[in-house]
Amino acid sequence: MRIVNAEVVVTSPGRNFVTLEITTEDGLRGYGDGTLNGRELAVASYLTDHVVPLLIGRDAHRIEDTWQYLHRGAYWRRGPVTMAAVAAVDVALWDIKAQAAGMPLYQLLGGASRTGIRAYGHASGRDLPELFDSIRAHLDEGYKSIRVQSAVPGLGTIYGIGAGSTIGGTGRYDYEPARRHPVPSEEVWDTRAYLRHLPTVFEAVRNEFGPDLPLLHDVHHRLTPIQAARLGKSLEPYDLFWMEDCTPAENQESLRLVRHHTTTPLAIGEVFNSVVDYQILIREQLIDYVRSAVTHTGGITPMRKLFDYAALYQVKSGIHGPTDISPVGMAAGLHLDLAIHNFGIQEFMPHTEDTYRVFQHDYTFTDGYLHPGETPGLGVRLDREAAAAFPYEPAYLPVNRLRDGTMHDW
Ligand SMILES: [Mg+2]
Repeated sequence: MRIVNAEVVVTSPGRNFVTLEITTEDGLRGYGDGTLNGRELAVASYLTDHVVPLLIGRDAHRIEDTWQYLHRGAYWRRGPVTMAAVAAVDVALWDIKAQAAGMPLYQLLGGASRTGIRAYGHASGRDLPELFDSIRAHLDEGYKSIRVQSAVPGLGTIYGIGAGSTIGGTGRYDYEPARRHPVPSEEVWDTRAYLRHLPTVFEAVRNEFGPDLPLLHDVHHRLTPIQAARLGKSLEPYDLFWMEDCTPAENQESLRLVRHHTTTPLAIGEVFNSVVDYQILIREQLIDYVRSAVTHTGGITPMRKLFDYAALYQVKSGIHGPTDISPVGMAAGLHLDLAIHNFGIQEFMPHTEDTYRVFQHDYTFTDGYLHPGETPGLGVRLDREAAAAFPYEPAYLPVNRLRDGTMHDW
Protein backbone atom coordinates (compact mmCIF):
# COMPACT_ATOMS: atom_id res chain seq x y z
CA MET A 1 0.00 0.00 0.00
CA ARG A 2 2.23 2.80 -1.35
CA ILE A 3 1.95 6.43 -0.28
CA VAL A 4 1.25 8.51 -3.40
CA ASN A 5 0.67 11.93 -1.86
CA ALA A 6 1.23 13.85 1.36
CA GLU A 7 0.17 17.45 1.93
CA VAL A 8 0.37 19.84 4.85
CA VAL A 9 -2.71 21.95 5.57
CA VAL A 10 -2.43 24.98 7.88
CA THR A 11 -5.81 26.36 8.87
CA SER A 12 -7.02 28.77 11.55
CA PRO A 13 -10.69 28.29 12.44
CA GLY A 14 -10.35 30.27 15.67
CA ARG A 15 -6.79 29.06 16.27
CA ASN A 16 -3.98 27.66 14.12
CA PHE A 17 -3.76 23.94 13.30
CA VAL A 18 -1.21 21.97 11.25
CA THR A 19 -2.55 18.80 9.64
CA LEU A 20 -0.80 16.24 7.46
CA GLU A 21 -2.98 14.43 4.90
CA ILE A 22 -1.45 11.23 3.50
CA THR A 23 -3.04 9.45 0.52
CA THR A 24 -2.30 5.86 -0.54
CA GLU A 25 -2.40 4.31 -4.02
CA ASP A 26 -5.78 2.70 -3.24
CA GLY A 27 -7.26 6.06 -2.26
CA LEU A 28 -7.22 5.83 1.54
CA ARG A 29 -6.64 9.14 3.31
CA GLY A 30 -5.10 9.42 6.74
CA TYR A 31 -4.73 12.51 8.95
CA GLY A 32 -2.10 13.46 11.49
CA ASP A 33 -1.93 16.49 13.81
CA GLY A 34 1.35 18.46 13.88
CA THR A 35 0.09 21.55 15.72
CA LEU A 36 2.70 23.26 17.91
CA ASN A 37 1.13 26.32 19.52
CA GLY A 38 2.98 29.48 18.43
CA ARG A 39 5.45 27.58 16.19
CA GLU A 40 2.99 26.14 13.66
CA LEU A 41 4.82 27.22 10.50
CA ALA A 42 8.09 25.65 11.69
CA VAL A 43 6.39 22.24 11.82
CA ALA A 44 4.69 22.86 8.46
CA SER A 45 8.07 23.63 6.89
CA TYR A 46 9.75 20.62 8.58
CA LEU A 47 7.05 18.41 7.09
CA THR A 48 6.79 19.97 3.63
CA ASP A 49 10.50 20.56 3.05
CA HIS A 50 12.07 17.57 4.79
CA VAL A 51 9.55 14.78 5.46
CA VAL A 52 6.97 14.69 2.66
CA PRO A 53 9.60 13.95 -0.05
CA LEU A 54 10.71 10.90 2.00
CA LEU A 55 7.18 9.53 2.30
CA ILE A 56 6.23 9.26 -1.36
CA GLY A 57 6.51 5.64 -2.51
CA ARG A 58 6.90 4.20 1.01
CA ASP A 59 4.69 1.33 2.21
CA ALA A 60 2.01 2.93 4.42
CA HIS A 61 1.74 -0.28 6.47
CA ARG A 62 5.32 0.00 7.79
CA ILE A 63 4.56 2.31 10.70
CA GLU A 64 7.32 1.30 13.13
CA ASP A 65 9.93 1.34 10.36
CA THR A 66 8.79 4.76 9.15
CA TRP A 67 8.89 6.12 12.72
CA GLN A 68 12.45 4.83 13.23
CA TYR A 69 13.47 6.13 9.79
CA LEU A 70 12.28 9.66 10.61
CA HIS A 71 13.63 9.55 14.21
CA ARG A 72 17.05 7.97 13.63
CA GLY A 73 17.39 9.00 10.02
CA ALA A 74 17.31 12.73 10.77
CA TYR A 75 20.35 12.33 13.08
CA TRP A 76 18.92 15.34 15.08
CA ARG A 77 16.54 13.63 17.47
CA ARG A 78 13.71 14.86 19.72
CA GLY A 79 12.68 18.47 20.17
CA PRO A 80 9.11 19.77 19.88
CA VAL A 81 9.19 20.71 16.16
CA THR A 82 10.70 17.39 15.09
CA MET A 83 8.46 15.28 17.30
CA ALA A 84 5.28 17.12 16.22
CA ALA A 85 6.22 16.47 12.59
CA VAL A 86 6.97 12.79 13.25
CA ALA A 87 3.69 12.51 15.20
CA ALA A 88 1.72 13.85 12.24
CA VAL A 89 3.14 11.10 10.00
CA ASP A 90 2.71 8.37 12.61
CA VAL A 91 -0.93 9.19 13.41
CA ALA A 92 -1.84 9.50 9.71
CA LEU A 93 -0.36 6.02 9.08
CA TRP A 94 -2.28 4.50 12.02
CA ASP A 95 -5.44 6.15 10.64
CA ILE A 96 -4.78 4.53 7.26
CA LYS A 97 -3.95 1.11 8.71
CA ALA A 98 -7.14 1.07 10.79
CA GLN A 99 -9.23 2.16 7.79
CA ALA A 100 -7.63 -0.62 5.72
CA ALA A 101 -8.46 -3.10 8.50
CA GLY A 102 -12.04 -1.80 8.64
CA MET A 103 -11.72 -1.13 12.39
CA PRO A 104 -11.70 1.87 14.72
CA LEU A 105 -8.08 2.41 15.71
CA TYR A 106 -8.56 1.34 19.33
CA GLN A 107 -9.30 -2.19 18.09
CA LEU A 108 -5.86 -2.40 16.48
CA LEU A 109 -4.33 -1.19 19.77
CA GLY A 110 -5.78 -4.18 21.64
CA GLY A 111 -9.47 -3.30 21.92
CA ALA A 112 -11.40 -1.42 24.57
CA SER A 113 -10.29 -1.71 28.21
CA ARG A 114 -13.26 0.41 29.38
CA THR A 115 -16.63 1.63 28.16
CA GLY A 116 -15.88 5.37 28.35
CA ILE A 117 -13.07 7.82 28.93
CA ARG A 118 -13.38 9.96 32.05
CA ALA A 119 -12.68 13.59 31.13
CA TYR A 120 -11.93 16.69 33.16
CA GLY A 121 -12.90 20.23 32.22
CA HIS A 122 -11.36 23.63 32.98
CA ALA A 123 -13.14 25.85 35.50
CA SER A 124 -11.72 29.26 36.32
CA GLY A 125 -12.70 32.59 37.80
CA ARG A 126 -11.34 35.98 38.70
CA ASP A 127 -12.98 35.58 42.12
CA LEU A 128 -14.85 32.87 44.01
CA PRO A 129 -18.38 33.66 42.67
CA GLU A 130 -17.07 33.45 39.08
CA LEU A 131 -15.18 30.26 39.87
CA PHE A 132 -18.22 28.64 41.49
CA ASP A 133 -20.35 29.62 38.44
CA SER A 134 -17.77 28.06 36.16
CA ILE A 135 -17.62 24.82 38.19
CA ARG A 136 -21.44 24.60 38.21
CA ALA A 137 -21.57 25.17 34.43
CA HIS A 138 -19.13 22.28 33.93
CA LEU A 139 -21.08 20.01 36.24
CA ASP A 140 -24.24 20.87 34.25
CA GLU A 141 -22.44 19.83 31.07
CA GLY A 142 -21.70 16.45 32.61
CA TYR A 143 -18.08 16.80 33.73
CA LYS A 144 -17.29 14.64 36.72
CA SER A 145 -13.79 16.00 37.37
CA ILE A 146 -12.82 19.68 37.34
CA ARG A 147 -9.57 21.59 37.00
CA VAL A 148 -9.68 24.68 39.23
CA GLN A 149 -7.71 27.85 38.35
CA SER A 150 -8.12 31.16 40.10
CA ALA A 151 -6.86 34.70 39.73
CA VAL A 152 -4.52 35.91 42.47
CA PRO A 153 -5.38 39.21 44.22
CA GLY A 154 -3.00 41.94 43.11
CA LEU A 155 -2.02 40.20 39.87
CA GLY A 156 -3.67 40.91 36.50
CA THR A 157 -4.31 38.28 33.84
CA ILE A 158 -2.58 35.02 34.72
CA TYR A 159 -2.47 31.51 33.31
CA GLY A 160 -5.79 29.68 33.19
CA ILE A 161 -8.13 32.60 33.88
CA GLY A 162 -10.67 33.69 31.26
CA ALA A 163 -11.09 37.35 30.38
CA GLY A 164 -14.61 37.31 31.82
CA SER A 165 -16.49 37.15 28.49
CA THR A 166 -19.13 34.46 28.52
CA ILE A 167 -19.54 31.97 25.71
CA GLY A 168 -22.99 31.80 24.11
CA GLY A 169 -24.71 33.31 27.14
CA THR A 170 -23.88 30.22 29.20
CA GLY A 171 -22.30 32.26 31.95
CA ARG A 172 -19.11 30.27 31.51
CA TYR A 173 -15.75 32.02 31.61
CA ASP A 174 -13.80 30.13 29.00
CA TYR A 175 -10.07 30.53 28.70
CA GLU A 176 -8.07 30.68 25.48
CA PRO A 177 -4.39 31.41 26.15
CA ALA A 178 -3.05 31.98 22.59
CA ARG A 179 -3.75 35.50 21.41
CA ARG A 180 -3.81 36.60 17.77
CA HIS A 181 -1.04 39.14 17.74
CA PRO A 182 2.36 39.36 16.01
CA VAL A 183 4.18 39.20 19.38
CA PRO A 184 3.31 37.48 22.68
CA SER A 185 1.51 39.47 25.37
CA GLU A 186 3.22 39.85 28.76
CA GLU A 187 1.91 38.90 32.19
CA VAL A 188 3.23 39.62 35.71
CA TRP A 189 3.81 36.89 38.29
CA ASP A 190 4.28 36.82 42.05
CA THR A 191 4.98 33.36 43.49
CA ARG A 192 4.53 34.30 47.16
CA ALA A 193 1.09 35.83 46.51
CA TYR A 194 0.07 32.67 44.59
CA LEU A 195 1.29 30.30 47.32
CA ARG A 196 -0.63 32.26 49.96
CA HIS A 197 -3.86 32.51 47.97
CA LEU A 198 -4.33 29.12 46.33
CA PRO A 199 -5.04 27.00 49.45
CA THR A 200 -7.83 29.45 50.41
CA VAL A 201 -9.42 28.88 46.99
CA PHE A 202 -9.41 25.09 47.40
CA GLU A 203 -10.78 25.39 50.93
CA ALA A 204 -13.69 27.47 49.59
CA VAL A 205 -14.33 25.08 46.68
CA ARG A 206 -14.37 22.06 49.00
CA ASN A 207 -16.75 23.85 51.38
CA GLU A 208 -19.09 24.70 48.48
CA PHE A 209 -18.96 21.45 46.46
CA GLY A 210 -18.20 18.81 49.10
CA PRO A 211 -15.53 16.13 49.42
CA ASP A 212 -16.40 13.85 46.46
CA LEU A 213 -15.73 15.97 43.38
CA PRO A 214 -12.26 15.21 41.91
CA LEU A 215 -10.36 18.53 41.68
CA LEU A 216 -7.20 19.19 39.66
CA HIS A 217 -4.86 22.16 39.50
CA ASP A 218 -2.20 23.28 36.99
CA VAL A 219 0.80 25.15 38.43
CA HIS A 220 2.19 25.67 34.92
CA HIS A 221 5.88 25.11 35.69
CA ARG A 222 6.26 28.17 37.92
CA LEU A 223 7.75 26.89 41.16
CA THR A 224 11.11 25.76 42.46
CA PRO A 225 11.18 22.26 43.99
CA ILE A 226 10.90 23.53 47.57
CA GLN A 227 8.04 25.90 46.66
CA ALA A 228 6.27 23.01 44.92
CA ALA A 229 6.78 20.83 47.98
CA ARG A 230 5.21 23.53 50.16
CA LEU A 231 2.22 23.92 47.83
CA GLY A 232 1.62 20.17 47.60
CA LYS A 233 1.68 19.96 51.39
CA SER A 234 -0.67 22.93 51.87
CA LEU A 235 -3.18 21.42 49.39
CA GLU A 236 -3.25 17.98 51.05
CA PRO A 237 -6.37 18.76 53.18
CA TYR A 238 -8.32 19.36 49.92
CA ASP A 239 -7.54 15.93 48.42
CA LEU A 240 -6.52 16.92 44.87
CA PHE A 241 -6.75 14.40 42.03
CA TRP A 242 -3.43 15.89 40.88
CA MET A 243 -1.15 18.90 41.03
CA GLU A 244 0.15 19.45 37.49
CA ASP A 245 3.53 20.72 36.25
CA CYS A 246 4.57 21.99 39.67
CA THR A 247 8.14 22.63 38.44
CA PRO A 248 9.62 22.87 34.92
CA ALA A 249 10.90 19.30 35.59
CA GLU A 250 13.62 19.38 32.96
CA ASN A 251 15.80 18.42 35.88
CA GLN A 252 14.01 15.18 36.68
CA GLU A 253 15.93 14.67 39.96
CA SER A 254 14.31 17.81 41.41
CA LEU A 255 11.02 15.92 41.74
CA ARG A 256 12.63 13.72 44.42
CA LEU A 257 12.49 16.70 46.75
CA VAL A 258 8.83 17.44 45.97
CA ARG A 259 7.86 13.79 46.39
CA HIS A 260 9.67 13.55 49.69
CA HIS A 261 7.47 16.26 51.22
CA THR A 262 3.95 15.71 49.88
CA THR A 263 1.39 13.01 49.14
CA THR A 264 -0.54 15.25 46.71
CA PRO A 265 -0.48 13.25 43.43
CA LEU A 266 1.76 14.74 40.72
CA ALA A 267 1.15 14.99 36.96
CA ILE A 268 3.87 16.16 34.58
CA GLY A 269 4.93 16.21 30.97
CA GLU A 270 2.83 18.24 28.51
CA VAL A 271 5.98 19.91 27.15
CA PHE A 272 8.02 16.70 27.14
CA ASN A 273 8.47 14.98 23.79
CA SER A 274 10.18 11.67 24.49
CA VAL A 275 10.12 8.71 26.87
CA VAL A 276 13.66 9.76 27.82
CA ASP A 277 12.20 12.87 29.50
CA TYR A 278 10.40 10.53 31.91
CA GLN A 279 13.00 7.87 32.64
CA ILE A 280 13.86 8.93 36.20
CA LEU A 281 10.38 10.26 36.95
CA ILE A 282 8.75 6.92 36.15
CA ARG A 283 11.44 4.51 37.34
CA GLU A 284 11.66 6.22 40.74
CA GLN A 285 7.87 6.68 40.91
CA LEU A 286 8.25 10.44 41.35
CA ILE A 287 5.02 11.16 39.43
CA ASP A 288 1.55 9.61 39.23
CA TYR A 289 0.34 10.75 35.79
CA VAL A 290 2.02 11.18 32.38
CA ARG A 291 0.76 14.36 30.67
CA SER A 292 2.20 13.89 27.17
CA ALA A 293 0.11 14.59 24.08
CA VAL A 294 0.21 12.23 21.10
CA THR A 295 0.83 15.32 18.94
CA HIS A 296 3.96 16.45 20.83
CA THR A 297 5.52 13.11 21.66
CA GLY A 298 6.01 11.60 18.20
CA GLY A 299 2.66 9.88 17.73
CA ILE A 300 0.88 6.72 18.82
CA THR A 301 3.91 4.46 18.29
CA PRO A 302 6.08 6.01 21.06
CA MET A 303 3.10 6.84 23.31
CA ARG A 304 2.19 3.15 23.54
CA LYS A 305 5.74 2.38 24.63
CA LEU A 306 5.69 5.25 27.13
CA PHE A 307 2.43 4.06 28.72
CA ASP A 308 3.61 0.43 28.84
CA TYR A 309 6.77 1.60 30.62
CA ALA A 310 4.67 3.71 33.02
CA ALA A 311 2.36 0.75 33.72
CA LEU A 312 5.28 -1.19 35.24
CA TYR A 313 5.38 1.43 38.01
CA GLN A 314 1.61 2.01 38.41
CA VAL A 315 1.94 5.42 36.75
CA LYS A 316 -1.18 6.33 34.76
CA SER A 317 -2.08 8.38 31.72
CA GLY A 318 -3.41 11.93 31.75
CA ILE A 319 -3.15 12.90 28.08
CA HIS A 320 -2.83 16.60 27.35
CA GLY A 321 -6.01 17.80 25.62
CA PRO A 322 -6.32 21.58 25.37
CA THR A 323 -7.71 23.22 22.22
CA ASP A 324 -4.23 23.54 20.69
CA ILE A 325 -4.44 19.79 20.05
CA SER A 326 -6.58 19.56 16.89
CA PRO A 327 -9.56 17.16 16.73
CA VAL A 328 -7.17 14.80 14.86
CA GLY A 329 -4.74 14.78 17.79
CA MET A 330 -7.62 14.55 20.27
CA ALA A 331 -9.04 11.48 18.49
CA ALA A 332 -5.62 9.81 18.47
CA GLY A 333 -5.41 10.26 22.25
CA LEU A 334 -8.92 8.90 22.77
CA HIS A 335 -8.18 5.65 20.90
CA LEU A 336 -5.14 5.16 23.18
CA ASP A 337 -7.17 6.07 26.30
CA LEU A 338 -9.74 3.43 25.48
CA ALA A 339 -7.18 0.71 24.78
CA ILE A 340 -4.46 1.03 27.45
CA HIS A 341 -4.92 -0.53 30.89
CA ASN A 342 -3.24 2.25 32.88
CA PHE A 343 -5.64 5.01 31.82
CA GLY A 344 -6.00 7.79 34.39
CA ILE A 345 -8.01 10.72 33.03
CA GLN A 346 -8.29 12.76 29.80
CA GLU A 347 -8.18 16.57 29.58
CA PHE A 348 -10.99 17.88 27.39
CA MET A 349 -11.79 21.37 26.12
CA PRO A 350 -14.36 21.45 23.31
CA HIS A 351 -13.23 23.23 20.12
CA THR A 352 -15.17 26.05 18.45
CA GLU A 353 -17.98 25.38 15.98
CA ASP A 354 -15.72 26.66 13.17
CA THR A 355 -13.07 24.10 14.15
CA TYR A 356 -15.64 21.31 14.13
CA ARG A 357 -16.79 22.42 10.64
CA VAL A 358 -13.21 22.02 9.37
CA PHE A 359 -12.55 18.78 11.29
CA GLN A 360 -15.61 16.53 11.19
CA HIS A 361 -15.24 14.02 13.99
CA ASP A 362 -17.03 10.99 15.37
CA TYR A 363 -15.85 11.17 18.98
CA THR A 364 -18.49 12.00 21.55
CA PHE A 365 -18.74 13.52 25.04
CA THR A 366 -21.69 12.13 26.97
CA ASP A 367 -22.37 12.42 30.69
CA GLY A 368 -18.73 13.19 31.46
CA TYR A 369 -17.26 10.42 29.32
CA LEU A 370 -15.55 10.63 25.94
CA HIS A 371 -15.57 7.86 23.32
CA PRO A 372 -13.66 7.80 20.00
CA GLY A 373 -16.55 6.24 18.04
CA GLU A 374 -16.73 3.17 15.85
CA THR A 375 -15.76 4.58 12.44
CA PRO A 376 -12.84 2.66 10.85
CA GLY A 377 -9.63 4.64 11.40
CA LEU A 378 -9.36 7.71 13.66
CA GLY A 379 -12.87 8.92 12.90
CA VAL A 380 -11.84 12.46 11.88
CA ARG A 381 -12.04 13.96 8.39
CA LEU A 382 -10.54 17.26 7.25
CA ASP A 383 -12.79 19.39 5.02
CA ARG A 384 -10.15 21.04 2.82
CA GLU A 385 -12.61 23.57 1.39
CA ALA A 386 -13.75 24.66 4.85
CA ALA A 387 -10.10 24.77 6.01
CA ALA A 388 -9.15 27.10 3.12
CA ALA A 389 -11.60 29.72 4.42
CA PHE A 390 -9.44 30.16 7.56
CA PRO A 391 -5.89 31.20 6.62
CA TYR A 392 -3.05 31.21 9.17
CA GLU A 393 -2.92 34.16 11.56
CA PRO A 394 0.05 34.71 13.90
CA ALA A 395 -0.92 33.88 17.50
CA TYR A 396 1.23 33.33 20.55
CA LEU A 397 1.01 32.14 24.11
CA PRO A 398 1.87 34.90 26.62
CA VAL A 399 5.23 35.32 28.35
CA ASN A 400 5.68 35.94 32.04
CA ARG A 401 7.81 38.34 34.12
CA LEU A 402 8.32 38.76 37.83
CA ARG A 403 7.46 42.14 39.33
CA ASP A 404 11.06 43.32 38.85
CA GLY A 405 10.94 42.49 35.14
CA THR A 406 12.85 39.18 35.29
CA MET A 407 11.64 36.64 32.71
CA HIS A 408 9.89 33.72 34.40
CA ASP A 409 8.26 30.48 33.23
CA TRP A 410 4.80 31.10 31.79
MG1 LIG B 1 -1.08 21.97 31.78
